[in-house]
Amino acid sequence: MSRIHRLDPLTVAGIAAGEVIERPASVVKEFVENALDAGATQIRIELEDGGRRLIRVTDNGCGISREDAPLAFERHATSKLQILDDLDHLSTLGFRGEALASMAVVARVRLVTRERDTIAGTAVEAAGGKVVKVEPVGCPEGTSVAVHDLFADLPARRKHLRSARTELARCVEVGAPYGLTREGLLLELRHGGQPLLQVDARTLRDAFGALVGRRVAERAIAFDQTRRHTRIRGLIGRLEDTRSAATHLYLLVNGRPVRAPRLVSAVVEGFGTRLMKDRWPVGVIAVETDPATLDVNIHPTKREVRFEDEGLVRSLLRETVESALSEADLTTQFAFSPQGELVDARLQHAEPTAPAAPGELLTRSEQLIASVVQEAFAEAPAPARRAAPRPRQLRALAQVLGTYIVAEGERGLCLIDQHAASERVHYEALRAAIAKGQGASQQALLSPLPLHLSPSEHRALQENEALFRELGFSFEPLGGTSVAVRTLPVVAGTLQAEGTLHELLDRLSEDRPRKPLGEEAVWLVACHAAIRAGEPLSTGQMQELLDALLRTDAPQTCEHGRPTMVELSAADLERLFKRRG
Ligand code: ADP
Ligand code: MG
Repeated sequence: MSRIHRLDPLTVAGIAAGEVIERPASVVKEFVENALDAGATQIRIELEDGGRRLIRVTDNGCGISREDAPLAFERHATSKLQILDDLDHLSTLGFRGEALASMAVVARVRLVTRERDTIAGTAVEAAGGKVVKVEPVGCPEGTSVAVHDLFADLPARRKHLRSARTELARCVEVGAPYGLTREGLLLELRHGGQPLLQVDARTLRDAFGALVGRRVAERAIAFDQTRRHTRIRGLIGRLEDTRSAATHLYLLVNGRPVRAPRLVSAVVEGFGTRLMKDRWPVGVIAVETDPATLDVNIHPTKREVRFEDEGLVRSLLRETVESALSEADLTTQFAFSPQGELVDARLQHAEPTAPAAPGELLTRSEQLIASVVQEAFAEAPAPARRAAPRPRQLRALAQVLGTYIVAEGERGLCLIDQHAASERVHYEALRAAIAKGQGASQQALLSPLPLHLSPSEHRALQENEALFRELGFSFEPLGGTSVAVRTLPVVAGTLQAEGTLHELLDRLSEDRPRKPLGEEAVWLVACHAAIRAGEPLSTGQMQELLDALLRTDAPQTCEHGRPTMVELSAADLERLFKRRG
């Protein structure tokens, strides 16, 4: 008996549709891409019940002619690609000719369209994978496509849809980044008739502001670099505007929002030690490169791309971000609430505080997305601060609480965390010495320091001998798991050496260190060598520390990304004392 049989065409289509359309957000994505491909400058997304009942996308693009309108629903029917070769110089977002065909398999679709400069519009209705009606209608120029009751006839698929608010959050997450892709675009999203998001992209900064909050966007650092046919431009948020997730780091490749964890990590590397542990940059980064060096056809929904030379793009990204940050003034600035109270900008923008969607409360994981919506409407009237580059000079005035140095800079008052500052100084000195290949300078101990190690510490020591040598440590075996320390890095006092070593060995014997080992070891030595909080300092010592800090490459943060200094400008002081509003 034959057991293999051909599936009927509708089932085949249903399987293929499953790859493209998983949920309302997939529909939003395909329709918005079609609208952009049609040259639209205005796009409205309307959702009901999180997109489960209705998804309608309306654009003012070129429209579709009467003859073409029904064709748009045929599988692999597209106006964007003629022959396979065209895939190498794609300039459109769509090209597979699958979206509308797939939509008609999984839902009831109605398309209403009028071609520019023609009189009559056309309505096409499709369901069950077929066009069921074509009729003339009166309608504005452009196209409006609606998907009703997604998966209504496919209970197994319908069951996998999540709650309305989760699906809504995904629609926002997927749809919003398109607002960043074209200057001059107006993208609107409404849910149940309520406006949720409006991106008026007069400039990239405006569009970015609609997604991350105007204030964050206003003070974000702009960059634009072209090298080897690849242009990288965009905006990166300041250190105090980082988030606890990477959801607000938008990546665009040739005008297409993409998910690209490896590009995200290149951006993070560009931040280097400026980024605090567990924090993520906010930003929008647009990569434009020769389409021939790019494959966008590796995923049915085209949300991933493959570069011919990913290494090159990654290093360009890293360098661009690194240089944008090193040219900018990253001193933490205080922000003022609208009432003129002093608030830490970091706290203000760090986490979304209240859920935004009217009515229902959102779960934690949805809050991040909700914050997109919320911030789009948050009134944030902060004046843009065009700060001069980092302070050139700091004059130590006093120490408070045995921990902070009060100093005067050209722009006003500075408070410096003495431990963080000293860590930055030691860290860079150690790095520099190691980079030069000389290793950190070492001091010989008059009497070797005996150390009793656990077996795992001992193993870690043996396996990482070269690293320790680079850092300035050297040892002699004392039998068993004991060793004698003969030399130490100059920066480490004898007293701290034992603690530093134990901590280092401890980390080295952990299964999965978080940073490259060398780096982590350098951090630790720097941290242990640094001036502690609570240590009294003379004015001379404070001045020495501040001078050394200003000579470092990144004086505004310690090597873990915490700020070393905060600044109150003359204007800030005036506002504090209500000398001006
Ligand atoms: P693709 O975008 O891959 O070509 P689709 O199934 O999404 O495939 O669309 C099929 C065709 O329908 C497109 O190539 C385009 O010619 C036309 N089309 C779809 N949506 C629109 C729109 N909003 N405006 C103008 N034409 C559209
Ligand atoms: Mg398409």
